[in-house]
Amino acid sequence: MKVLSVASEIYPLIKTGGLADVAGALPLALAGRGVEVKTLIPAYPAVRAALREEQSVLRFGDLLGVEAQILSAKVAGLDLLVLDAPALFDRSGGPYIDRDGRDHHDNWRRFAALSLAGAHLAAGRLPDWRPDLVHVHDWQTGLVPAYMRFLEPPALPSVMTIHNIAFQGNFPSSIFPMLGLPAHAFDIDGVEYYGQVGYLKAGIQTAWAVSTVSPSYAEEILTPEFGMGLEGLLNRRSGELHGIVNGIDTDVWNPQTDPAIARPYGAGDLKPRADNKRTVETHFGLVDDDSPLFCVISRLTWQKGMDLVAEVVDDLVERGGKLAVLGSGDPGLVAALQSAAARHPGRVGIAVSYNEPLSHLMQAGCDAILIPSRFEPCGLTQLYGLRYGCVPVVSRTGGLNDTVIDANPAALGSRAATGISFSPVTSEALRRAIRRTIRLYEDKKTWAQIQKQGMKSDVSWDKSAALYEHLYSSLLPKGSH
Ligand code: ADP
Repeated sequence: MKVLSVASEIYPLIKTGGLADVAGALPLALAGRGVEVKTLIPAYPAVRAALREEQSVLRFGDLLGVEAQILSAKVAGLDLLVLDAPALFDRSGGPYIDRDGRDHHDNWRRFAALSLAGAHLAAGRLPDWRPDLVHVHDWQTGLVPAYMRFLEPPALPSVMTIHNIAFQGNFPSSIFPMLGLPAHAFDIDGVEYYGQVGYLKAGIQTAWAVSTVSPSYAEEILTPEFGMGLEGLLNRRSGELHGIVNGIDTDVWNPQTDPAIARPYGAGDLKPRADNKRTVETHFGLVDDDSPLFCVISRLTWQKGMDLVAEVVDDLVERGGKLAVLGSGDPGLVAALQSAAARHPGRVGIAVSYNEPLSHLMQAGCDAILIPSRFEPCGLTQLYGLRYGCVPVVSRTGGLNDTVIDANPAALGSRAATGISFSPVTSEALRRAIRRTIRLYEDKKTWAQIQKQGMKSDVSWDKSAALYEHLYSSLLPKGSH
């Protein structure tokens, strides 16, 4: 089976969040099952710089008004098709925002061009590779199935995965004439969304199947509270809506071999974690004692419940805890957490940055990771926490609900507990969860049991890759694979 994946970021080349991890890890997991995946991504400077021995395999004289070509290359075991369109992608800033933190002014064109290139590849424009199915991710690639339906029929089967429905890629209707779609595509059955052009909406509308990254989130987005306006359409498509939880790359995230941590360890002996804890404490200027060390590794946003962390931090310290925060985001939340660090020298520390190695060290040294998200399609940091014995303290929503087993008396009794979960998502409930975590931590035997049980959880891609393969197969003509 040959699959074209289209994504706007991919680990290890360019990453702003969990989407990159999934785009990078799923092809490798599927390769083990005989599914060949090639991934189309934009040639941002970081991607261009990583290419070696790339070959130009297709040229577009005019792709939505710019010159572009497709480069083929293999990087980090991934088969990449890179959309080289310097006018769109060779610039400073991040994949979506400029150096001043504003959206690139032409994001509509950048990701429409990516999507149109994807549709051309789906139609077999490459001389020696034709996919059986196309898998696209998030709003940036939502127009791929729309272009496939309106420009390149007969279309191949397509799967649209929603990693976060909060980001929808809605643009004014004035861009529509420049997308190269026929006039009838601007319709409720096409790309039109409340008078605008909706990229994610278009993908949900036109893909053969829709998936999201956990079973709980697949149910939640059918409700007004979580669907963010798309719940009506999703309800109409609920027969083709699937929830498949993300895995993690267990080679990159392996406490026995991780080069970013101070001392390796395994589930059999957690004592070396103490060295990692000390290294984290030194990094954040925290006192080195046996009190529980909580961490946050996150975008500092309302979605992630970071305002709640700022509200409960005084109580966390009063109860004897410490907190190390790694993240960046909303300036108001950054300021609130910085002021908590100033109020509690030696007990609360914050690093306002994006630091991949430090995130590994923190998972390897901290006792618990706080993830009080208001909504969480899947969440990866709790999976890393499970793998590293950094006990997740999570709100009971989306993928957090599907991957963490709360340490209630029954789960503790049957040795099933892997973390602490709470609801509703309020500061009061988070405060109670943190107090409960500290009590559990003080019972060393129980705590070690929770850590070890978490480390035994299957957080690999094995099961989920099988589910994706099954979904793909269900869309292909019977008997073809
Ligand atoms: P989301 O994609 O919504 O931001 P996820 O939990 O799915 O949330 O994925 C976040 C990813 O980004 C994880 O791999 C996490 O470790 C990483 N991450 C988030 N913030 C930072 C940071 N400041 N430094 C390093 N890694 C981070």
